[in-house]
Amino acid sequence: MDSDEALTIGAGLLRAARRVFVLVGAGMSTESGIPDFRGPRGLWRTNPAAQRVFDIDAYLSEREVRRVAWQMRLSSPIRTARPNAGHLALATLAESGRTVTIATQNIDGLQQMAGSSDVLELHGTFWRSVCLGCGDRRGIEEVFRRLDSGEEDPDCRACGAILRTDTVAFGQELDPDVLSAAWHAAADCDVAMAIGSSLGVHPAAGLCEVAASGGGDLIILNAEPTPYDDIATAVIRRPIGEVLPLLVDRI
Ligand code: NAD
Repeated sequence: MDSDEALTIGAGLLRAARRVFVLVGAGMSTESGIPDFRGPRGLWRTNPAAQRVFDIDAYLSEREVRRVAWQMRLSSPIRTARPNAGHLALATLAESGRTVTIATQNIDGLQQMAGSSDVLELHGTFWRSVCLGCGDRRGIEEVFRRLDSGEEDPDCRACGAILRTDTVAFGQELDPDVLSAAWHAAADCDVAMAIGSSLGVHPAAGLCEVAASGGGDLIILNAEPTPYDDIATAVIRRPIGEVLPLLVDRI
């Protein structure tokens, strides 16, 4: 099946659907200037050492890992990124009268900035800090101001413990309430779309299987093959910012 045919099939499925579940990955935001992890220009290929920053054990035990992590966050493209045509198309889909649940693996907040209100952040958010001791959460800009004034590894103002962005690192559990809400939306959907994800990070990727076992049709929009292509009704391998507006326009 070529991409045009898959696009026609995908649009037909969405048109008929009442409940749509959308799983979003880092590929959705590459056209906003935020690199993914596993794509051809992803962080794992350009800077493999960066993986340590996302490992919770290394982060907890090594001050140098935390220092590097904060420098990476300070210069992250997430801070200045804007939603792209893909985010905007998904926000438009939610206005079409269907029930649309968006579960994002992204931490950048761009889907909400595009106007979507019902977004489940499976992997947390870049825009808040969390204290790993007392759980105190606050806006990230406060930590950035402390870094700008020379601190290298800011500690919690309340209890002195280690701070992180409020995101899920490798080795950490997902918030069970957020995961459960996504699981139910996937199990109940008529159509699931997986957009811009290599579908290699679990448990998020497993939501495709939940949708398919519940009788939902799966549409995959991703530049590269994924482990779930075989169970998808349509696989579209074109740039998301180009193809998602086309798909939404056709319903
Ligand atoms: P991933 O890096 O594993 O996969 C991204 C996929 O998107 C790749 O297969 C790539 O080929 C595809 N892709 C990239 N740009 C595309 C485009 N314009 N059109 C079509 N396809 C495109 O991403 P993942 O599956 O989301 O897993 C990575 C983890 O990294 C997630 O858990 C997420 O929390 C985190 N992450 C988030 C961000 C962000 O918030 N923007 C950025 C990088 C990583």
